[in-house]
Amino acid sequence: MMLGLDGYAACPNRGHCCVRANRLQYAPARVMNYGHILLDLLNPMDIIIDMNTKTTRLVGTNQKHGQDYNKSVVFEHIRLFGPISRADISARTLLVPQTVSNLVRNLIEGGLVVELQESGVARKRGAHPTQLAVNENALFTVGVQVQYSRIFAALVNLGGKIVRSAERHWNLPSDFETFVKGLVTMSEELVVGVDGIRSITELQGIGIGVPRLYGKMFGNLPAPSWPSQIVLKKYLEENVDCEVIVANNAHLAAVGEYWMGRGKVPATFLYVYLGDNVGGGLIVDGEEYVGVSGKAIELGHVQYMPGGISCYCGSKGCLDQYGSVNALRRRLSVARDAPLGEVLNTANEQQLTIIHEGMEALAASIISVLSVLDVSTCVIGGPHAKDLFSLLLIPLESKIREREYAVEVRCSNIDIHAGAIGAASTVFHDALWCKTSNLLKAES
Ligand SMILES: [Zn+2]
Repeated sequence: MMLGLDGYAACPNRGHCCVRANRLQYAPARVMNYGHILLDLLNPMDIIIDMNTKTTRLVGTNQKHGQDYNKSVVFEHIRLFGPISRADISARTLLVPQTVSNLVRNLIEGGLVVELQESGVARKRGAHPTQLAVNENALFTVGVQVQYSRIFAALVNLGGKIVRSAERHWNLPSDFETFVKGLVTMSEELVVGVDGIRSITELQGIGIGVPRLYGKMFGNLPAPSWPSQIVLKKYLEENVDCEVIVANNAHLAAVGEYWMGRGKVPATFLYVYLGDNVGGGLIVDGEEYVGVSGKAIELGHVQYMPGGISCYCGSKGCLDQYGSVNALRRRLSVARDAPLGEVLNTANEQQLTIIHEGMEALAASIISVLSVLDVSTCVIGGPHAKDLFSLLLIPLESKIREREYAVEVRCSNIDIHAGAIGAASTVFHDALWCKTSNLLKAES
């Protein structure tokens, strides 16, 4: 990431703040503060403040990677637009008909795609093909949303349908082995009696969304005595014998929004996750941007009030201490597990003022992110999105008009279990989506 120090060129707020160090109007500390905000959002490998430093590595592709990529493109078109004919796929993808036919045959042989009769009933290979659709029960994943007081797990099929789900209330065990055993049992119970899958070893994978981060600053989370993310993932994989993804709920929910949106959300958007804490995700051209250490778009830890309330991350004045549901509950003096909808509906005038202040803080921080990213769409999702959306939209749209940004703000349609659905979707997305990075991966 390049941080420019040449005045207006780097200042998205048209001279009202930020990076104008060369004009000596702001102390270097302000410049570095802005740099910290960018680091919290984008989590790049380096921050470069030097126009003379430039490194570029050009990587080529080969025929096999190109073929795999094209196969993913064809599959994605069948997933998004199916039932669809080979001719329509060819027209949409600009792949020649013969290539489409070859790739479709490959997908059918792999069991991911079926040919449909006009009635919509799947028919066996060998007959003249007409329309193509995803074989919904070809693959399954389990998505898990871990919270401190409960765990929610969903078995999701390739068609994006929740086949079965389960929820358990528990105190998150400090002993991660107990957590793993509980998770394995829960996953095993989800697949019992489901057509198309006999045991969890046949899962495409298990995605696990955790509420907080990993790293030195935050400890090994979600419980301090848990091992690192990498060790936890490896241990889980050994116990479930399939692919495991462990990431924070917000990142996974962003991918879920894209995968489940089936073409209704653009390929690039900002995702704001409203759980008990605030998080965020960024999808760029259909691919998740997580940063070099998996901490990109940490919206909750963007500095909102310099020198303000101490945050559990070790910093002061983070948005999470002002605009999160936890912060609202604390300021409103309601129980930590108080249902938010009830709290909002019964709020008196004084409490409403506090709620509006929280939404102002949230809106101001989202605008800071939009000023960096300038994306066309901002999706508000997560467990509390539906409760807070209309309250947040008022200050947010006002600020968007002030800054003249061309961004549409919308509320996610995914329910309160966005983390689990996102976790399940991410397994599919990682395995099947047409990532351009797959064209460039090194030979193993
Ligand atoms: Zn913080």
